[in-house]
Amino acid sequence: MAVETHTATDAEGAAARRDLAVRAAVEQGLVGGAEGSEPLVCLLDVAGIQASAAALAGAFAAALPPGTPVLHAFAVKAAPLVPVLRLLAAAGFGCEVASPGELALARAAGVAPERTVLDSPAKTPAELREALALGIAVNADNRQELERLDALVAAVPTASPIGIRINPQTGAGAIDALSTATATSKFGVPLRDPGARAWLVRAFAERPWLTRLHTHSGSQGVPLPLIAQGVRELHALAEEINAAAGGRQIDTLDIGGGLPVNFASDEQTPTYAEYVAALRGAVPALFDGSYGLVTEFGRSLLAKHGLVLARVEYTKTTGGRPIALTHAGVQLATRTVYAPAAWPVRILPYDAKGTPKTGTPVPQDIAGPACFAGDLLATARELPELSPGDLIGVPDTGAYFFTAHYGYNSLPRPAVHGFRITPGGGVHFTLARPAQSPAQIVAEAGGALRDALL
Ligand SMILES: *Cc1c(COP(=O)(O)O)cnc(C)c1O
Repeated sequence: MAVETHTATDAEGAAARRDLAVRAAVEQGLVGGAEGSEPLVCLLDVAGIQASAAALAGAFAAALPPGTPVLHAFAVKAAPLVPVLRLLAAAGFGCEVASPGELALARAAGVAPERTVLDSPAKTPAELREALALGIAVNADNRQELERLDALVAAVPTASPIGIRINPQTGAGAIDALSTATATSKFGVPLRDPGARAWLVRAFAERPWLTRLHTHSGSQGVPLPLIAQGVRELHALAEEINAAAGGRQIDTLDIGGGLPVNFASDEQTPTYAEYVAALRGAVPALFDGSYGLVTEFGRSLLAKHGLVLARVEYTKTTGGRPIALTHAGVQLATRTVYAPAAWPVRILPYDAKGTPKTGTPVPQDIAGPACFAGDLLATARELPELSPGDLIGVPDTGAYFFTAHYGYNSLPRPAVHGFRITPGGGVHFTLARPAQSPAQIVAEAGGALRDALL
């Protein structure tokens, strides 16, 4: 089938770029180095990110009548790096932010207020006031937040489009901690609770400035039909509210993000085209052009394009189990370490020169540098036997891994480099985040306040 061939080609292309980048990272001293000075580095495949952004934009453009307003707002929490936001902005994307820090990153990347969306379940009055002053779109999470907005909107006119987030309560996916649409999820107004629907219709009728509805019903572990069901509920509610209003009060639907990612191979499945097809099947009217759309994808835009490269410092055998002690652990694969069954990662073995390593597979534990026994990226993984100086690659880590650093053991945030393959087949790296230095760790740990507790 043509589609499968296309996917395989994408996967092969991504794998080929990765192997070139690993070798070049060693040759150019980004990892390895004399005396093992560079034990860990993170890489982002710029062409891959651009291809995913184009695939997302293309899938919606192909399904919507020309001229339908669409904003693809990248969920900043997936990869909160200013150069990433800037790269996506250059591809026409905006930002979905959920904290003052994320908003500051979006602004630092030059993302315009009208291309920024603020969601978060616990916005302070100060955050709301700032968002309204800037004209950023705001989605209210709950009734109390809506009451706060009543007061703010009455006090000062705003250009901000304002909506309400709903929880369609359509059910959980495979990972409970990431399921937003359960009966008791903390997010949004619960649509199926007694009286909620009538309250929502009234809330809009009483507030002509409410023009949007929002849901984010997908996430890793949620199958496409379940995501689509949440969006269908959103659309049906918008139609009901607009019918009650006797007009098009709701003009924009924010359908969230949450497309799952394949962590098992280089195949990028499901695709955005499959996502749009699932939505078209479940809620065809979403694509008739009567609503503008906002999307908020994070993981599916970045995950496949990130790679961790870590040196194997030592190897040992304990209780008959070979163990490779590496520099990649809980600080950059926090979910994998604490919930290994839900977040398995692939481990790609390379030798010290950055060449893919072959050999008879032996079950090995891949351990990180942190001081607790559970700091393992993989247990009894069948790999060619690793030796000190070899490298392990951890692919699919472009979202929520090294961009969501966990400061255990004061392990530093590693450097992140973007890479592009040049027309001559070389690899061009650009620094996208410097490594955190020991001096920065001290400064952030109260170094200037040394005597504060004496
Ligand atoms: C996390 C989040 C997203 C992005 O989810 P992904 O699974 O990374 O696509 C979008 N919208 C909201 C409200 C979120 O909390």
